[in-house]
Amino acid sequence: MDALPDSMKLDFLPRLTGSFSTPAKQNPTSVMIEAAYEHHKMHARYINCEVPAASLADAVKGARAMGWLGFNCSIPHKIAIIDMLNRLGPSASLIGAVNCVVLRDGEAIGENTDGSGFLISLQSLTTVAGKRLVILGAGGAARAIAVESALAGAEHITIVNRGHGNGEKLAHLIAENTKTKTTAVEWNKPYHIPEEADVIVNATSVGFGTDSNSLVNVDVETLRANLIVADVIPNPPNTRFLQEAAKKGATTLDGLGMLVYQGVASIEHWTGQKADATVMRVALEQALGITHK
Ligand code: NDP
Repeated sequence: MDALPDSMKLDFLPRLTGSFSTPAKQNPTSVMIEAAYEHHKMHARYINCEVPAASLADAVKGARAMGWLGFNCSIPHKIAIIDMLNRLGPSASLIGAVNCVVLRDGEAIGENTDGSGFLISLQSLTTVAGKRLVILGAGGAARAIAVESALAGAEHITIVNRGHGNGEKLAHLIAENTKTKTTAVEWNKPYHIPEEADVIVNATSVGFGTDSNSLVNVDVETLRANLIVADVIPNPPNTRFLQEAAKKGATTLDGLGMLVYQGVASIEHWTGQKADATVMRVALEQALGITHK
């Protein structure tokens, strides 16, 4: 057979991925994922899409029709998307929320990479096996972190939440499905961090975006040097909670690492490629205007 002419070897059809959320404008994920695609010379694109709740089903149909590799879904679609999928991966099924959809062999499969992203980020400081964690919040991020930490062998998890019902539900879910012991605490006064805690995580939305001056309702006098204090808030990443913790000598971990590693896991689900986390973090920091002194 004759060799193809050069013009026929050209490929103008990238593989498509992206994100469905609303509001989508402030979501910087596309910057870090496209930086990874470029770095690894992958012929793929990531498109940030503004998708209102009423249009989610149509957006999913469109992605399937166009042969997308998959997409992330963020606020407010992480639970609603489940009804539009063929099946869930094991941790998404236990967490009850999906942030990454894989379109493969005619199926739409729901995964959750938030919790595993957090754990990989935390690995730079410690592992959770045998540790005692306190998680502030009982929403989607808290559920993902609590489930993955329990599956990774945390000894005890305390869930601290304003709405006691949600905190109790999450504590029961963990206790019934894993070997981790749990306690639910109703959060109606400044929370005193117990002496025996190893890691405390702010998994509420306090400190996010325009709320950056707010401090979670924790007794800052109970923050101490032998604690690891983590925050899920990616923007601005150096939250008041982390600043107070650093003043007390605690080791701190910001929410950018979680964002980067949930993205690394999403790329791997879609393409099989292990993306370079440093390239992604640098792109993200540049996009958010974060400078290091
Ligand atoms: P949800 O809406 O599902 O949950 C929000 C949680 O925050 C609830 O537990 C809520 O408590 C609590 N909360 C809100 N305001 C307050 C307050 N003033 N005081 C105490 N608790 C409060 O949101 P998500 O869990 O999906 O997201 C939470 C945050 O995590 C967001 O800011 C998001 O940006 C961030 N996130 C970061 C990721 C990353 O990769 N870094 C990934 C995913 C999320 P209650 O039940 O009482 O209302």
